[in-house]
Amino acid sequence: MSELAYVNGTFCDPADATVSINDRGFQYADSVYEVIVAIGSEPFRMTEHLERMRRGLEAIGLDLEPHGIDLERIIREGIERAGFDRTMVYLQVTRGVQPRAHVYQDGLVPTIVATFRPKPVVDAGVRARGVSIMTIDDTRRTECKIKATSLLPNVLAVSQARRDGYHDAVFVSPSGEVREASSSNVFAVRGGGLVTPVRDASILHGITRQYILECAERMDLPLIEGTLTVPDLESADEVFLSSSVIDILAVTKVNDKTIGTGKPGPLTARLYKTFLKGLPGSA
Ligand code: PMP
Repeated sequence: MSELAYVNGTFCDPADATVSINDRGFQYADSVYEVIVAIGSEPFRMTEHLERMRRGLEAIGLDLEPHGIDLERIIREGIERAGFDRTMVYLQVTRGVQPRAHVYQDGLVPTIVATFRPKPVVDAGVRARGVSIMTIDDTRRTECKIKATSLLPNVLAVSQARRDGYHDAVFVSPSGEVREASSSNVFAVRGGGLVTPVRDASILHGITRQYILECAERMDLPLIEGTLTVPDLESADEVFLSSSVIDILAVTKVNDKTIGTGKPGPLTARLYKTFLKGLPGSA
């Protein structure tokens, strides 16, 4: 069991995995990616992740079809080879290698890169206490539903949050609507139901977000996919973040406002139980 990388057909040690400086992924972030978690040998919601990547590739005009690349096979083989209990698969597809020029050439061979690492474990104390988030202006491109590697605003936002004593930052639109966090989606609990921003182009359509909505439906919880303003978030009964890596993570402070009692809330806890029960390998 050791961390594993994959570059264009070859599995190798991550330390030996390299791509060209002329790779358009490196030069222009001309690339899309996915993060998929596997439990044992079973990638969770693989079809949905691959479908989101397919939509992203289509949106940027990158066709893998002529290159005979089987992403699912690469993912499954990497998980088996790495042999972790829980694997975090990072998969990136770039448009390929070409001397630096904004206009891309036709017929480039896409670069396929992947890493297979143990899924990071959220510290038990952090999970029990919940985290803090601050709101920040959304300066990102408009098509955030494309999971592109151009993440500079996300990197700067969460780094700013850490410097300011918060765990994460949540992007807010010019009209004051909450969108998503730097690498997760946002939910609020208000009046016994869940509220989460609508699935438009300005947020990533999180696979975990969708799974949580399905869990909530099974629990007969009222659901609203709609507008969530900063005051709505600050005055919510409970708040949590969601992603493939953190699952559900309770938020107990938004800006300078304490959420609920200042501890992770009961509905978040119930929802997380249902969430865990639906994962592969849990009866
Ligand atoms: N929003 C952003 C900006 C993200 O980077 C992520 C993590 N990929 C998510 C939401 C959550 O997506 P998922 O549930 O598919 O991991």
